[in-house]
Amino acid sequence: MNKEPLYLILIVDDNPNNIRVVFNFLKKSNFRVLVSTGGEDALRKTKEVTPDLILLDIMMPKIDGFEVCRRLKDNPETREIPVIFMTALAEIENKVEGFALGAVDYVTKPLQQEEVLSRVRLHLKLHDLNRSLQEKNHNLSEEIAARLAVEAELKQLNKKLDIRVQERTQELSQAIKELHIREEKLRHQATHDSLTGLFNRAWLMKFLSEKIADSRLKKEENSILFVDLDRFKNINDRFGHLTGDGLLKVVAFRLRKCLKSRAEIARLGGDEFLIVVPGKWDTNKQSSLIADIFEQFKKPFNVGKYQLFVRVSIGIVPAIDGYLKPTDILRDADIAIYQAKQMGRGCSVVLTPEMRAAAWERIQLESDLRQGIEEEQFCLYYQPIVSLSTRKLTGFEALIRWQHPRLGIVSPGVFIDIAQEIGLISALDCLAFKLACQQIEKWRRELDLKEFPVVNINCSAQRLQQPEIVAQVRAVMGKYEIETSAIKLEVTESDFLKTAHQAIEILRQLHDLGIKLCIDDFGTGHSSLSRLHNFPLDTLKIDRSFVTRLTDNRGGEEIIKTIISLAHRLNMDVVAEGIETREQLDKLIELNCEFGQGYLFSQPLPGREATQFLIEPSLFAH
Ligand code: C2E
Ligand code: MG
Ligand code: MG
Repeated sequence: MNKEPLYLILIVDDNPNNIRVVFNFLKKSNFRVLVSTGGEDALRKTKEVTPDLILLDIMMPKIDGFEVCRRLKDNPETREIPVIFMTALAEIENKVEGFALGAVDYVTKPLQQEEVLSRVRLHLKLHDLNRSLQEKNHNLSEEIAARLAVEAELKQLNKKLDIRVQERTQELSQAIKELHIREEKLRHQATHDSLTGLFNRAWLMKFLSEKIADSRLKKEENSILFVDLDRFKNINDRFGHLTGDGLLKVVAFRLRKCLKSRAEIARLGGDEFLIVVPGKWDTNKQSSLIADIFEQFKKPFNVGKYQLFVRVSIGIVPAIDGYLKPTDILRDADIAIYQAKQMGRGCSVVLTPEMRAAAWERIQLESDLRQGIEEEQFCLYYQPIVSLSTRKLTGFEALIRWQHPRLGIVSPGVFIDIAQEIGLISALDCLAFKLACQQIEKWRRELDLKEFPVVNINCSAQRLQQPEIVAQVRAVMGKYEIETSAIKLEVTESDFLKTAHQAIEILRQLHDLGIKLCIDDFGTGHSSLSRLHNFPLDTLKIDRSFVTRLTDNRGGEEIIKTIISLAHRLNMDVVAEGIETREQLDKLIELNCEFGQGYLFSQPLPGREATQFLIEPSLFAH
């Protein structure tokens, strides 16, 4: 148990946390403790009780520690109370001022418990000694010696404190240095691509904004090269992403090597790089840059254990005047590179106004198509399928047409590929299926016939990937009360080849429902004949290109003969499409082809007009 008399210490601090900390360890060390959270309160309290020592914070609102100390020292009642300032490190310069005001000592924040306690104890002792010196005036020399000893101890403590302050200052400057390095690193990361070390997209956008402004002020013109690796995805897929990344690093290195000092290069992402070249593009003058780039890609790239050959396509935006924002430049660079890819890749293309116009047209068409599908601006035309032996109507092929509000009737050749690319083909197929069912239902309602021909509806690979297709088909057919035998689905040979295992399963389910299946445009997809065996197919449609070649001695006859015999062996019947002449028809009959369709019989017609063939199925007899 501590034998010290119970001293009363007043802690003055506006921060309750500080008070709590000091309060706790003083209490633990057997001091009586009084607290004040402000200067005024402290002054009031010292009028009522006289503490043995005051621990006084400096930075406080209203009356700060210095002022409190000054007033304490002005008052004879409180003048003798030892005051120790509690100061933050940064306020150490102020210690001089503190001592000038009559404080006996200071401790620095964050407070070290041991240090505070030893200083408090020392000053209490010193104070006691002083007091007894004044009161009793006895054994002066002993007292002085004791006082000197205490003062020496205090000096020692101060020295220690100074060393610590120095150490802390050093630590602080080291921390600041590290902070700067980290900041610099972050700044680099924000503007650079971590894989290749080239500038990144964020940097490029800012840079292009500046260049657009320069061009607007006629200060400087720049041209843009958009460099894109050909078939980079294949490399990732075949050799893995690590190899892909390794390749990009070498590509970045080689591209940078081609550049003159003032050109800048950035990686946009993936396998896309963008080079900003000073000056308006002049193919005559700058073709060497393009040649250098292509030259770099003639050499193999050694990545890990692989030796890779890659080519690039380059799209060029010849000047950036007139652009409003960087994304517009990127969009046009994209148009130019798209052209380069269309031209067979591995080449460069300079953007022209015509290309831009065509791209805009395509964008417009895409947006029209989205809206068109939403608003169901489509209808079906029906082309008769005829039995070649009886010349009677046996079915129709439903072919979609777009009733475009501005352009009128638009053929699928214009929009099917786009719909496929932008993922709308399934919606279109779904709509075609519904429209066909509506037409069948209408014919049944309006005509009194014993037999109705089968309607062929085209269906894309994308639609066949959707498991819900089976339920949808059943629901639509149920709604219009159409039996499944009334419908045949046509899937092109190339789409068949695209279908995954899951799609074969879907085809089986549809077939099990009773829906017949036809492979369309046969002969164009180069499918292996044995693969056909896996599909539940009923009909094979010979592509028009073979029918066209049938009578011009270009080998069409042999091919058709083979296809027909293959189909028959696999229990499929055969339809020849695109029959335009009597000669072709005769030849097909001779080759044992059962069915045909083509302009010789009829063009595709709107449902209302196709009705005539239902009323008079023998219209094709002559
Ligand atoms: P397809 O399924 O092979 O349809 C036959 C195409 O050949 C039709 O073109 C038809 O009008 C045309 N044709 C028919 N007889 C002759 C002829 O004697 N001579 C010539 N030169 N052409 C003939 P269309 O209607 O323009 O359709 C083109 C393609 O669009 C279709 O080829 C089909 O693959 C696709 N398509 C049409 N409707 C749909 C649909 O609803 N969904 C899907 N996914 N594709 C469809
Ligand atoms: Mg078809
Ligand atoms: Mg076809």
